[in-house]
Order: sequence, then C-alpha cells, then structure tokens
Amino acid sequence: MEPQQRSPLLEVKGNLELKRPLVKAPSRLPLSGSSFKRGRDQMEDVLEPEKKRTRGLGTATKFATSHHRAPVLTTVPQAQGQTAAPKVPKKTGPRCSTAVATVLKTQKAGPAVPAQKPDTAAPPKLGGKKPGKRPAWDLKGQLCDRNEELKCYRERTQTLDQENQQLRDQLREAQQQATALGAERKTLEGELARVRAQAEQGQQELGNLSARVLELEERLGTQEGLVQELQKEQLGLQAERRELATRLEEQERRLQASEAALSGSQAEVASLRQEAAAQATLLAEREERLHGLEMERRRLHNQLQELKGNIRVFCRVRPVLPGEPTPPPGFLLFPSGPAGPSDPPTHLSLLRCDERRGTLSGVPAPPTRHDFSFDRVFPPGSGQDEVFEEIAMLVQSALDGYPVCIFAYGQTGSGKTFTMEGGPGGDPQVEGLIPRALRHLFSVAQELSGQGWTYSFVASYVEIYNETVRDLLATGTRKGQGGECEIRRAGPGSEELTVTNARYVPVSCEKEVETLLLLARQNRAVARTAQNERSSRSHSVFQLQISGEHAGRGLQCAAPLNLVDLAGSERLDPGLALGPGERERLRETQAINSSLSTLGLVIMALSNKESHVPYRNSKLTYLLQNSLGGSAKMLMFVNISPLEENVSESLNSLRFASKSFGVPTQIIKNYHSALAGVAQWIERRPAD
Ligand code: ADP
Ligand code: MG
Repeated sequence: MEPQQRSPLLEVKGNLELKRPLVKAPSRLPLSGSSFKRGRDQMEDVLEPEKKRTRGLGTATKFATSHHRAPVLTTVPQAQGQTAAPKVPKKTGPRCSTAVATVLKTQKAGPAVPAQKPDTAAPPKLGGKKPGKRPAWDLKGQLCDRNEELKCYRERTQTLDQENQQLRDQLREAQQQATALGAERKTLEGELARVRAQAEQGQQELGNLSARVLELEERLGTQEGLVQELQKEQLGLQAERRELATRLEEQERRLQASEAALSGSQAEVASLRQEAAAQATLLAEREERLHGLEMERRRLHNQLQELKGNIRVFCRVRPVLPGEPTPPPGFLLFPSGPAGPSDPPTHLSLLRCDERRGTLSGVPAPPTRHDFSFDRVFPPGSGQDEVFEEIAMLVQSALDGYPVCIFAYGQTGSGKTFTMEGGPGGDPQVEGLIPRALRHLFSVAQELSGQGWTYSFVASYVEIYNETVRDLLATGTRKGQGGECEIRRAGPGSEELTVTNARYVPVSCEKEVETLLLLARQNRAVARTAQNERSSRSHSVFQLQISGEHAGRGLQCAAPLNLVDLAGSERLDPGLALGPGERERLRETQAINSSLSTLGLVIMALSNKESHVPYRNSKLTYLLQNSLGGSAKMLMFVNISPLEENVSESLNSLRFASKSFGVPTQIIKNYHSALAGVAQWIERRPAD
C-alpha cells in the first residue's frame, strides 16, 4: 500500500471536483435557437464550461472516453497539446473560429501555439458547397445565403442543445457516481484506517512475536542442551540403576541367606543371652572377689614392702667411662649372696691402699678391705631396666596410697642424675627412674581403671640450693630465675605442704613427663651459666601427687611419689686456699653437708622411732616430711664412682649410708617370712 500512489478512485474524485462549475453552467446555456443571437461573448460563455470540462478531464480517462463526443467538442483545442489545433474543422465559420480563438487566448496555458491560422479564419462552408460571391445587387441571393447560413446555425444549435442535454445527464450520472464513490471512498478510507491500524497492531504484534520467537528459540536452545545433558545423565542413571538392581538382587539373596541364618541365630542368641546373664552374675561375683583380692593384694604388698623394710638402701657403682683410668684389679669386689652367683649381689668390698700407712720395715702396708652390705648392690654392668625392676614394687605402693621417697646420694660424677633422669641423647635404654616410674604408673593406673579406679597425677619439680627453693618448671620470664618459692602448708590446719610460686602440672602420658624433664634441664642450664655447676650443688626434687578414686565403692587413696637427685656429697679439700670463690664454695658445701646430715638424722630418728624428728632443720627434710616416716617407703641409692682416685669419697658415701640406713638383721628375717606370706597369697589367687 503505497501512500504516495493515488488510487484511481481518488483520481476520479479529483476530476469530478474540478468539473463542479459545470453543474452550474447549464442554466446559462442557450436552450433555444432564438437565444443564439446573444453574440460572441455569450457564445464564448456557452463554450467555456465545455472547454473547462474537457480541460478538467485532462488526459483521456476511461470515464471520459467512454462517451461519444460531439464534433464541436473535438474542435476545442487542448491547452496541453499543440496537436489539438489542426483538428479544428474547417467548416466552422469565422465567428465560430473567433470564438474558439478567444477561448484559447483566455486559457493562457501551454506553449505559444498559434491558435488562429490564416486558413482557419475562413468562413465555414455550409452544406459542403461554397456559394460564390453574389453581386451587390443580388440582395435576394444574399438573403437566401444568410437564411441558409442561419439554418445551418440553427441545426448546429440544436445539435449542441442535444449534446448539452446529454452532457448534463452524464454530469448528473457522474455526480451520482461520484457521490457513491465518495461514500464508498469514505467507507474504504475508514476500512483502510482500520486495516492500517490493524496492520500496525499486527506489525507490533509481529514484532512482539518475533522477539518472543527469538526468546523462545533461545530457551529452546538452552532446553535442548539441558535435555541432552539430562539424557546423558539419564543414561548414566540407568546404568547405575541396573548396577544397583544387580546389587540389590545380590543383597536380597544375601539378606535371605542372612535371615535364614538369623532365625537360626536367634535361638542361639536366646540361649547365649541366658548364658550371658549367667556370666554377668558370675562376673559380678568375680568382680567382687577381684576387688577383695585387690584390697588383699594391696595389704600384702604393703606388708611385704614393710618386711623388706620401709627404709632400703641400694648401692650402685657406675662403669668406668671412656678416657678414665682403669682401677687396679680387686679395687671393688661384689661377692655373691648365700645362694651363690644366681643370687642378686647385696655386698660390696672396697680395697684401699693407704700410702701414709707403712710398716716399720718400710714395706707398704697391705690394702685395707672395707665390706659393706645393702639391700641390693648394682655392679657397673647393671642396666637401667634392672635397677627399675627393683623399685617397681615401690611405685606400686605409691599407687596403693603409700608415700614413697627415692633418693640418689653420692659425690658429683658418681651417676646420681644418670640413675634418676637417665643418660644423654634420649636413648630409651638409658632412660632413668623418673620416666620409667611414670610410665609404669600410667600403665598400672590404666589396668586399674578396669576395676573401677580412676587416677590423676600432678607433677612439680623444684631445686633446693643453699637453702633456697627454685621452680625448675618455671616458664617465660621466671625461667632460670631464683624466684621466691617458699614451702607452706596448703591450708590452715592442713598437713599437706606446697611450694608457693611453683608450677604444679597435671600429667597423663609419658610425652608430658618428657616435656617437663626437658624444661627442668633447660632451667638448670640457664642457672649453670649464672653460677658455675650449680646443679651438682643443689638437690632436685621431682614430686608426683597421685590421687585414686573408686567411685563405685566410695574409696579414695592419695600419696606423693618423690624422686630426689641429691647434691654432690663430696667434701671441700681442707688444704685449698680460701679465695672469694672458694668461700662461696665452702658456704655451699656447708649447706649441702648440713642438709644431707639432717636427712641422715631424720632417717635415723624415724628408724629408731624417736619422738622428735628434726624435719625443720633443712628445707629438704621439711619439704619431704609427709613422705618420710609412718607407712612411707624410702629408698636410698648410694652412687659410687669406680675410680681409685675417688676412693675416699666412695668410702665416705658408703659409711654414711651404712650408718644412716644400716639394714637391721631383723628385717632380713622378716623378709623371709614375708616371702612365705606372698607364696600363700599366690596360692589363693584365682586362676585367670
Ligand atoms: P652425678 O649426677 O652424680 O653428678 P652423672 O649422673 O652426671 O653424675 O654421671 C656422670 C657421668 O657418668 C655422666 O656422663 C653419665 O652419663 C655417666 N654415668 C653415670 N652412671 C652411669 C651408668 N650406670 N652407665 C653409664 N654411664 C654412666
Ligand atoms: Mg647430677
């Protein structure tokens, strides 16, 4: 629908509008022959509408050309074309020609075409015959000619009237048609507007639909991708489903088999339940009996330890270290016990050559033999495990609720620290008593948990130097410092003692104990740089508070286990010049000697059951007073150097131990009767 193109209907309408003046024209047309005389101007008026009509129609339209044209009309020249001019009939008289020429002049349209040619100005020939020129006297002839001419004009007027009438009819018809067409045009315009609106709406809808189609296509693409993925997934799932179905079948088969077995087992379970109930009763009985036996074991164990002696002394001689001089043969002897070499040694003999003593004849005096007997003697080849075996029973006593104290006594370098903490390098073979005792405690506590006992352990490690107490577990800024640790009662009226400012660390595994021993070693190392070899001039006290509880029976037990590495027992050489360093050393030695002799005195007072025990005479005995005496167990290791050069200090140590902790012969007697008691207990033990 091209808006620029004019529809034929509109074209017709336009033409009709142009012709409108024609509608008014008929009233002015001459309708009768008498009116012909009106003159040239009137004649032009008559012709004018016709001319206008013809011009208005322009190029021949279908409508215009469908009617027959009267010759007069064809003589009116078209303003637009020159070709119309030659068509003017030559018949037309001069007046008619003049009229036509006037019309052409007033139109002023088209190119300057000569409208009045000389030949066209000739008068019209009426009746096809041109009368010859009449003489002036032939008036009758002239009249006749004029009548003829008039007749011709009348005929012509008549024809024009008819034609006029025809044209009026045509015009009316055309007007009617134009009205109809106008109405139709309006309808069509309305229709067109509606169609256009519809088309616009349709266009819009089409646009929307196109966008929607694009969107849907896009979605379709996505959906297709999704569908493909889902299809793939579906395939995977189908395979999985098949596999699961197979497995399910297999499981069902197994289930059936299991159900069959289950029904068989159910009967068995019922009988087993009965059996279990019987076993539970038996177990409860056994537990009861076991508990009774455990209590009996504790009692007998303690009795055995008491019979062995609440105070025991072991002597340990360290091996000669690489680079040290080999002692002369027979310098130290370890005679066998009464039962021969299989008996663990309990005696030690030391040969001493005294150069100062000589015979009168000048021959050197024979070496003096010094014999000592102890609860047990460990020759240089004894391993750490062998030593621990002997004290494991005491560790058990601590778990049973009896305080235990184990000391290492001897000169510096005799092997005290080696015995207590172990050798260097963390080799498990050379682990000392402290880590071994702790491991043993943890494992026994674990076993006893099966019987309803719950144990907890809290460790502390302090050093007593020159009668001042220092925390070896101090951390941070307190590390290596002297500290203001004091020994105090835990509370008013309490028997329990505690060291103020010292760390008490709960431990539950070997690793934690290892960490504590390492920390103590570091603390001692820091102190060593400040004061020369202070560790050998101080007592190191490792204390472990053991607490046990049997919640089911409302039983409790608590006891401390003390492992003490004493300060070197050597004396100061009296021949040494007393410089400022030596004076300090002398003060240290006096403090050590004082505390060691107080320890000896305390032990002696305890073994003699004296009413006064001088605990308060030293920090060491004061700190350990709850672990000494009464039912407490005490063990002293006397560490001896195997070197001949240390013979004097070795003798001193051995004498100190014999004097302070001399084993009464009665104990040995009791020991044998205790063994008989243990044998009895073993017989009564339930068979596991
Ligand atoms: P103390 O603590 O009495 O001064 P140490 O325990 O430091 O003496 O021992 C001194 C040296 O002897 C250390 O090098 C130690 O490793 C070594 N030592 C002590 N006893 C033994 C032993 N039984 N076996 C092997 N080496 C030992
Ligand atoms: Mg030491």
